[in-house]
Amino acid sequence: MVVGIHRKTYAKVDLSAIKHNIVVEKKQLANKQNIFAVVKANAYGHGIIEVAKAAHEVGVAGYCVAIIDEALALRKAGLNELILVLGVNPFEYASLMAKNNISATVGDIDFLKKAQVVLSTEKQQLSVHLALDTGMGRIGFRTQKELREAADFIKQHSTEFNFEGIFTHFSTADSGEKVAVDYYEKQIAEFNELISCLEELPEYVHVANSAASIWHKECGGNTIRFGITMYGLNPSSDELSIPSEFKPAISLLSEVAAIKKIKKNDSVGYGKTYTAKEDEWIATIPIGYADGWLRKMQGFKILIADHFCEIVGRVCMDQIMVKVPWKMAVGTTVILIGKKGQKEIRVQDVADQVGTIHYEVTCLISERVPRIY
Ligand SMILES: *Cc1c(COP(=O)(O)O)cnc(C)c1O
Repeated sequence: MVVGIHRKTYAKVDLSAIKHNIVVEKKQLANKQNIFAVVKANAYGHGIIEVAKAAHEVGVAGYCVAIIDEALALRKAGLNELILVLGVNPFEYASLMAKNNISATVGDIDFLKKAQVVLSTEKQQLSVHLALDTGMGRIGFRTQKELREAADFIKQHSTEFNFEGIFTHFSTADSGEKVAVDYYEKQIAEFNELISCLEELPEYVHVANSAASIWHKECGGNTIRFGITMYGLNPSSDELSIPSEFKPAISLLSEVAAIKKIKKNDSVGYGKTYTAKEDEWIATIPIGYADGWLRKMQGFKILIADHFCEIVGRVCMDQIMVKVPWKMAVGTTVILIGKKGQKEIRVQDVADQVGTIHYEVTCLISERVPRIY
C-alpha cells in the first residue's frame, strides 16, 4: 500500500484525547473494572500501534484485536500486555498464538480438541477466553452443556490450556428503546445463567462494550472491552448521550489544490450531475472515494476558510470539487472532519450523510491517507 506522504491530505489523530478518554472512562466505571483497549481494524482507523502505545501509557489490562495479524503487530511493537483475538480461528494457528502469548477466543469444543493435540506435541500452552453467545448469534457457546464440556476439557488439559477469560457480547446495549433494553436484559440474564454452571470463574470476566459501560453500568464483569468511546465517539450515534468529557480524536484535513471560475451552465464532474446556476468559483481538493471519502458525500458541506462549502458534482476516486464563495488561494486548509472555533464537522455528520454509523466512517479512511499524531 502506498501512503500519500507527498499529498496534503491527512488524518490527524490526537493521542492525548485517547488517553484522556481512557482516564474519563476509568473514573466513570461503576465496578472499577479493568480495561481492554479495543484496537482492532487499525484502531478503528486511528492507527493500531500508536493508539495501543497511548493506551499503555495510561494503563490498560490488555488489548482486543479482531485477527491474529493485528495481535502479532502489537507484539512486534513491543507491547507486552494481554492481547485477545476476538474472532475465532482455525486450530492450525493455536501454536502461533501460544508462541506469541496471544489469547484465543474459543467458541466450540472442536477447536479445543484439535488444538490440544498440536499444543501437546509442541509443548505449548494457549490462553483461552470462552465466548458465550447470549443473543448476538455470532460466535460462542449457547448452552450450559456445551460450556461445561469445554470447561471440563480445559481443566483436563491444563498443560495445554490456561482458562483465562469468559465473555459475551451485547447486540443492543447502544439503544434506549424498550425492545433494545429488554433484549440487553435478556442477554445479561442468559450470561449469568450460563456461567452459573462453572465451578470457578477465570481471571477475566468481560461483558461490556463501550455502550454497556456507559448506559448499563450494572452489567458487571471485572473487565470491559472499550472501543468506540476510547476514540471519543458515541456508540449510539445521536440517540443517547455520552458524558461530555469524552473527546473525539480524529480529524480529516486537506487543502485546496486548484481553483477556477466556471461560467453559468458549465457542469462539474462525471455524469455532469451539477450545473452552475451562475458564474462560480470551484475548488478542487485531493481526496476521493479511494481515500474512504465516499461518493455519497456529494452535496455535503466541508469547511474551507471558515465557510461551509458544498461538494458539487460526483466524488471522484481521488478528487472532489467544491463550490466556494470567492477565489480561495491554493493551499488553503480544508476541514473534512474536525473543528475550528465554533464550527465543527463531526464524524457523526459524515455518517448521517452516508447513512451509516461512525465506526464505518473512521474504519473506511483508507491506508493511502497518512495518520499524523
Ligand atoms: C468491536 C468489539 C467491541 C468494542 O465495541 P465498541 O462498541 O466499539 O465499544 C467489544 N467486544 C467485541 C466482541 C467486539 O467485537
